[in-house]
Amino acid sequence: MLPGCVPWPEEFARRYRARGYWQGISLFEMLRQAAARTPGKTALVDGDRRLTYAELVRNAEDLAAGLYELGLRPPDRVIFQLGNSLELAATFFALMRIGVIPVMALPAHRGGEIGHWVEHAGAVAHFVAAATPKFDCVAMARSVAVAHPLIRYVVTAGPEAEGVEALAALCSRGRQAGAQAALAALPDPAADGVALMLLSGGTTGMPKLIPRTHNDYVHVATRTGIVTGFGPDTVFLAVLPMAHNYTLCCPGMLGTLVHGGTVIISSDTTAEQVFSAIARERVTAIGATVPLVARWLDSDQFGRHDLCSLRVFINGGAKLPPELRRRVEERFQCEYQENFGTGEGLVCITPLGQPEPVRFLSSGRPISEGDEIKVIDERGNELAEGQIGELAARGPYTIRGYYSADAANRDAFTDDGFYRTGDVVRVVDGFIYLEGRRKDLINRGGEKISCEEVEDYILAHPKVMSVCVVAMPDAVFGEKACAFAILREGCELTLEELVAFLQQREIARFKLPERLEIVDEFPISAAGKVLRRELRERIAMQLQSERS
Ligand code: AMP
Repeated sequence: MLPGCVPWPEEFARRYRARGYWQGISLFEMLRQAAARTPGKTALVDGDRRLTYAELVRNAEDLAAGLYELGLRPPDRVIFQLGNSLELAATFFALMRIGVIPVMALPAHRGGEIGHWVEHAGAVAHFVAAATPKFDCVAMARSVAVAHPLIRYVVTAGPEAEGVEALAALCSRGRQAGAQAALAALPDPAADGVALMLLSGGTTGMPKLIPRTHNDYVHVATRTGIVTGFGPDTVFLAVLPMAHNYTLCCPGMLGTLVHGGTVIISSDTTAEQVFSAIARERVTAIGATVPLVARWLDSDQFGRHDLCSLRVFINGGAKLPPELRRRVEERFQCEYQENFGTGEGLVCITPLGQPEPVRFLSSGRPISEGDEIKVIDERGNELAEGQIGELAARGPYTIRGYYSADAANRDAFTDDGFYRTGDVVRVVDGFIYLEGRRKDLINRGGEKISCEEVEDYILAHPKVMSVCVVAMPDAVFGEKACAFAILREGCELTLEELVAFLQQREIARFKLPERLEIVDEFPISAAGKVLRRELRERIAMQLQSERS
């Protein structure tokens, strides 16, 4: 295994293999096997571009050969920041073929965050989309490369430029005999090696890196697909960022492909575009998040598009209130599924055909027979069924440690190897009911914001003496960030001024606080800690009184 990663203990690995949770194949081999079954079937659709399974394998292999010839070698790490597109899929599988490990950044991330992961992962390349009039991601990648000489290659889905490689050109180069021969001599990566690194929705500072292996990810794709009823007739609409665990693999693109279905790729989340894509492509399954569900349910597009192909509507990333789950089933005329997942591994889903209380109230149950979950108190002691405590998980696809993060790992994992999710739950009859959260984390409609990370950025402002960032309730996103700040003497600060300052730090927009409360002091506990809960309650009450 890659140095810095924590492997499963041998006795667990043996058991996972013996029980078939780990199939011993790479993610590329998973695709290859699906393509061998139905080579001529459409695997991916992106606007008017379509790729069959055989074409996807061919494209990915050509690109793999081109990237190998360029100089990428296993187990190099690369920053992977492509938007939803055929290119994202082909590049992902190309990297899976040559054993190069993508760090799955999102299009929303900016240079400050990317630079951090370059250094932490030791990344040697940065893959970005094409520049657009709205945002020049190629210029961003160039300046990251200047600031971080570890980066040897910038690769774009757009046109070639000075010092910037184009995916299309690499694909052509990969088709040449020499490059093909070199690829043929390169074995598939080991199934128990690291395939990719996801970003944690972590609470402490910058997101940590989550190393996921081929074995574990093939298992998740297979199982989440089965629990969601995926098969060859599945047409999955991917509208959320495909580099995120949810839309990549839970079941997402990989869960569709492993079962021989078709993925419709889009990034337009407006009701009009989504509904017309469902009608045009006869979509059977869609994965959404809380803010999208609220927006779609409110739209005037019902009745204008034929949505009758839809069989399952999935929500993930944050909990959808029961009333909205009911409305989803009424308006979309299909079955609702709640999908409670973590980048660290554990995924729980409400299986199809469950009665209403489970579908509308629970966060589902673990997707694999190999999952072990327990509910623990603050000292780590296991609680009895039905009691409220922190959810902890261990199993064939839940990591045993973050990448190169010994100190964080001591807090995030129990001594017996369970990942502490930070989610406060009750478990009844094997189903999880979410009660709250232990972590200082804001869940903005599925996008996680680490309070500590944003506090660090704000503290750099010369007018700010002290700051505490908490979640405030929001009707559409569930939660948004509110910053309580104590200013230096004689200073004044507006939200606009603070936001302009934070934007210079090159961080993703979704992390910016959306309200600023100036205070003289924070409520403090007897032990001297800031009482975040009181601040959360204070802003919630204030918002309520402003509304009424
Ligand atoms: P991430 O690793 O970014 O996917 O974040 C994982 C966390 O998101 C979980 O620990 C939960 O706190 C939260 N989460 C994900 N899905 C759901 C859901 N369906 N309901 C409630 N919380 C969720």
